[in-house]
Amino acid sequence: MISPLQSAIAGLCPRCGAKALFAGPIKFAERCPACGLDFSAFNVGDGPAAFLTLIIGAIIAGSAIGVELGFSPPWWVHVLLWPVITLALLLGALRVAKGLLLALEYRNAAREGRIKDK
Ligand SMILES: [Zn+2]
Repeated sequence: MISPLQSAIAGLCPRCGAKALFAGPIKFAERCPACGLDFSAFNVGDGPAAFLTLIIGAIIAGSAIGVELGFSPPWWVHVLLWPVITLALLLGALRVAKGLLLALEYRNAAREGRIKDK
């Protein structure tokens, strides 16, 4: 049994564990080539992106203030440093968050809302 966290961090298929969840850095594959699980049926949407933008924005702003107060580097250090760190953090966290959400949807058999018949 693959845990959702393993699946998210290593990009493993939540059903069979094949390393096939991602087709690109933050893009899901269409389906698992090993067991045929249809990844496109899981819609994780933009939830993780909005959430992470707020968290990472707060981390970066806090770090930038800390570095300025602690080291007072020249202005171009900030210009070079923060965009790179922000992008790296965001892509890394987005990948894990999306993978985690898909794995949890798989495990809990979550689907889009529908009327329950009896
Ligand atoms: Zn699979």
